Amino acid sequence: MDLYNEVAELLVKKRSAVALTGAGVSAESGIPTFRGPGGLWTFYRPEDIATPEAFERDPEKVWRWYRMRLEKIFEAKPNPGHYALAEMERLGILNCVITQNVDELNRLAGNKCVVELHGSIRRIRCVSCGYVERLEDLSKLDNLPPKCLRCGSIMRPDVVLFGEPIPMREWTRALTETYKAEIMLIVGTSGSVYPAALLPHIAKERGSLIIEINPEETELSYIADIKIRARSGEALPEILERARRLILSTQ
Ligand code: NAD
Ligand code: ZN
Repeated sequence: MDLYNEVAELLVKKRSAVALTGAGVSAESGIPTFRGPGGLWTFYRPEDIATPEAFERDPEKVWRWYRMRLEKIFEAKPNPGHYALAEMERLGILNCVITQNVDELNRLAGNKCVVELHGSIRRIRCVSCGYVERLEDLSKLDNLPPKCLRCGSIMRPDVVLFGEPIPMREWTRALTETYKAEIMLIVGTSGSVYPAALLPHIAKERGSLIIEINPEETELSYIADIKIRARSGEALPEILERARRLILSTQ
């Protein structure tokens, strides 16, 4: 049987899936991934620039890197992969998206249940008083680093930097959704950033079916029961289309 049909049937039959997504899902929106061809790795090592130590040492340099990423992200729109995930949630065949992405494109596409493990690049946070502000455009970043409206201290991207823990609230929600679901779709992630990459292992341990969608082999491929080697913007709409037909045919 065609793999897309097989996955669609499982999603419709179980009505209990969760998706763990990574930078690959946003690649077709023009946002570079970290690893893989054309990834941000090629120019910088995120582990060197996106750390609390680097920010402490040279906040302006770290901010220049984030501003460059934000320029791309402000221009980006959700792609067919994001829209398919939103439609799957609406149809009741996907409970939630747990994402490592900081671009908010899942929410923009229409997903209601989104766990943003690594925060959002569209928000900034004061390092002293914790005040959080939303960025509607880049004007706040004309002078780097941006300053807190409340206390005048410097602000940082409201994201989880390498070496920082995932906020407890997001991690708890991610675990709850992982335990609740009988299927985990792992889409567009290299599975090399922890603790996010623990979630598929927890799902597997719990007896869930693991489905990987990624054009490349990853560090999680070996635990996947079904592997679809295609881009998410191509595979997810195909699966959605078949699921829709199945739902219609059983009504
Ligand atoms: P990663 O860069 O490590 O891996 C990207 C993965 O996506 C690779 O396995 C690659 O084969 C796959 N991929 C590339 N194009 C794809 C496509 N069209 N469809 C499906 N898969 C595709 O990314 P990661 O695993 O998310 O982990 C790195 C960290 O990067 C995360 O912590 C995240 O916060 C951060 N990040 C976020 C964004 C974003 O918000 N859009 C962008 C870059 C990095
Ligand atoms: Zn402040």
